[in-house]
Amino acid sequence: MTHTLSKPIRFKEGDGALHGFTTGRVKVKSKFRTAQGNAFTSKINFLLDRQFTEYMPIMVWVLDHPEGVFVVDTGENAKVSNQGYFKKEGPLANYINTKSFIFDVEPEEEIGPQLKRLGYSESSIKSVVLTHLHLDHFDGLHYFETTDIVINQLEWEKPSFALPSLYPEWFSPSTVQLKEASDRHFKHSLPLVASGEIKLVHTPGHTVGHCSVLVKTADMHYLLAGDITYNQHQLQNNIYAGGHQSFRLSGSTYQAVREYASKNKLVYLPSHDNQALDRIQNDTYLTTGLR
Ligand SMILES: [Zn+2]
Repeated sequence: MTHTLSKPIRFKEGDGALHGFTTGRVKVKSKFRTAQGNAFTSKINFLLDRQFTEYMPIMVWVLDHPEGVFVVDTGENAKVSNQGYFKKEGPLANYINTKSFIFDVEPEEEIGPQLKRLGYSESSIKSVVLTHLHLDHFDGLHYFETTDIVINQLEWEKPSFALPSLYPEWFSPSTVQLKEASDRHFKHSLPLVASGEIKLVHTPGHTVGHCSVLVKTADMHYLLAGDITYNQHQLQNNIYAGGHQSFRLSGSTYQAVREYASKNKLVYLPSHDNQALDRIQNDTYLTTGLR
């Protein structure tokens, strides 16, 4: 069953919308979601862990702005549960991916059919923006062969736990360099529209090149947060995930998001958060205790 939410939002140049929907769900090892040990030992600990979390959604986002429609991440596809899906990556990656994750994705939950139901064709999309190169964020790419695909150059050059054999063979994204910004919360960013209301912001930690998409509207700000954390509780309580590439970078990213939220009404939207759509619906912004 898919969950979809469409929220009308007002941009400076006119009306727009934020759509969020699930492309299936995934269970991960408990110690993958919540780290035990340091950045190195936490990887061993989650591999040895036998306990899985509950199913978490695999979300994607669509931003309809007067300058164009942006898709943020592409979710998972139904073939992921096929026997041998990870074989091309070699025995180690095959072992880790088949033992550490349990996916549940129906074909009609994939991003292509869902975009169509919302009234968007591939050619109506201005850009697909990838927060990072993990499978459950790029595995809907095959619907976007002719679309511009944007990714932080650093993520492209230094991905972590990447599975390049599962990229579509035509995959050659537009790599962008984020610029040092005057914004005192997120040090590096890149506007995606002329007004700067939609920005790619560098939010490293989960991977060193990880980015989020920051949306500013007259009423509310939204952070399409990728995998900064798996839920809001982890951000508020400084809890790292076992899969994070750098705990140090995660710590400063958490701090930057909390500081931003102390100055702006920010709805925090990680990709695997069961509460994300409710938060959009109810305008539930992040409270941090910071002033
Ligand atoms: Zn990830």
